[in-house]
Amino acid sequence: MINVSKSKCVGCGLCVDVCPQEAISVSKGIAQIEKDKCIECQSCFRECPQGAIMLIKNIDLLVAFGTDDDSTLKSDNHVGMSKYFRLYRFSDSQEEFIEQRSNLKYKEDETKTHGDPGKAKATASALEDVDVLIGRMFGPNITRLRNKFVCAVARKDTIEEAIQMVHENINEIIEEKKRRIKEV
Ligand code: SF4
Ligand code: SF4
Repeated sequence: MINVSKSKCVGCGLCVDVCPQEAISVSKGIAQIEKDKCIECQSCFRECPQGAIMLIKNIDLLVAFGTDDDSTLKSDNHVGMSKYFRLYRFSDSQEEFIEQRSNLKYKEDETKTHGDPGKAKATASALEDVDVLIGRMFGPNITRLRNKFVCAVARKDTIEEAIQMVHENINEIIEEKKRRIKEV
């Protein structure tokens, strides 16, 4: 799958000119690729002066979304306090719902000023085998959670919107995951 990094693309349009499929357009200063038209010839990938285009093969990410129901992101507290995590498997340009996992019951110790490590541990054990954790709010424990997952803040109301955000930022998420693996 060919993907454009929103943070790197400067909207120069050079990729548009080299695409034999007319699959690329620039909208709001960012190149957009129509995946149905793309034949993965990689011409745009070679042309881009910003290194903003990536060819991603065999995406396989298990992504958890913190929620108190089955459709909205938890918004009144940290993601670690969610009642459930909705797990989706992302592969290439699609995602598939896998399961809804209950969070472990854990009463955070409010006297701990920089986050209760016990809470981070409980969240991590509920999310065994997950690659990416998506939440609307993270608390001080984000530094501990980052040792376990790629953590991403989604300023979105619904899980559906957050899923779209993951697709749009899949390059950055994969790069972050690779970086984390190197650091471990
Ligand atoms: S060539 Fe690269 S920087 Fe220019 S519009 Fe295309 S993706 Fe963006
Ligand atoms: S890989 Fe080829 S067909 Fe696909 S968007 Fe880039 S230039 Fe167009």
